[in-house]
Amino acid sequence: STYLLNDRFVKEDEITVSIEDRGYYFGDGVYEVIRVYGGILFTADEHIGRLYESASKIRMDLPYGEEEMKAKIEQLVKDNGIIEGHVYVQATRGAAPRVHQFPGEGVVPVITGYTKAYGQGAEPAETVSLKSVEDIRWMRCDIKSLNLLANVLAKQEAHEHGCYEALLHRGGTVTEGSSSNVFGVKDGVIHTHPVSNFILNGITRRVVMECCEELGQPVHEQPMALEDVYTMDEFFMTSTTNGIAPVSAIDGRQIGDGRPGPVTKALMAAFDKKLPAPVAS
Ligand code: PMP
Repeated sequence: STYLLNDRFVKEDEITVSIEDRGYYFGDGVYEVIRVYGGILFTADEHIGRLYESASKIRMDLPYGEEEMKAKIEQLVKDNGIIEGHVYVQATRGAAPRVHQFPGEGVVPVITGYTKAYGQGAEPAETVSLKSVEDIRWMRCDIKSLNLLANVLAKQEAHEHGCYEALLHRGGTVTEGSSSNVFGVKDGVIHTHPVSNFILNGITRRVVMECCEELGQPVHEQPMALEDVYTMDEFFMTSTTNGIAPVSAIDGRQIGDGRPGPVTKALMAAFDKKLPAPVAS
């Protein structure tokens, strides 16, 4: 397959990235993952917009603009013949001898990207289980940064307990998943953490909020207490790679009857309608 390296498309063995890259030393960079449905990028503008916002929040100027980035990502998806899958793109602050402060003029960000094709056949909207994990991340979770150590540790802890995702909470206040946003449904009302520095403003979350608006589905953008999630009628998580995934259990305690509830199902149907039309085969 072909990779993106700055403004070029290259094969894996042609890629050289410096051992002094600040992404490697400090996780000093930002990234995005964009889904491809039927060969078409979904919500590409929102993802690319967020990439440039993340870059700007860490005071990093990317060497080319959003339009060019979009063209390059589209080209990469086309070159690799991706029909169902995703594209990953990241930008680091560049390569320079290791000092914490920004490198001087002349050091330019390094942009890399790859594509991933999903297995043949529709990915089942499987029901997932969550494990609660203390959210030990920093105070700028709104930035989609390469510093994912706390997320990695949380996801690993969830997996070691046989769960698919970690449900992060700060001292008992639920924030989001380790790589997803989370929503609870109680008495017909959806509860989710408001957009703030404590969560990533997920693109899938935005699409789900749009669906809620269109369906007249009430949403309470207030943080949930961890102790309250176990008795919610329904629970689901959202992310670019999984779309809307119903949650069957949290910390081994079944949610509802353990199957996707009516609100989750209605949102999944509304979400599906927003996806690019499947290509005729
Ligand atoms: N929160 C975190 C911490 C994430 O890593 C992700 C996935 N990138 C999300 C939420 C979901 O965001 P999106 O819907 O844009 O993929």
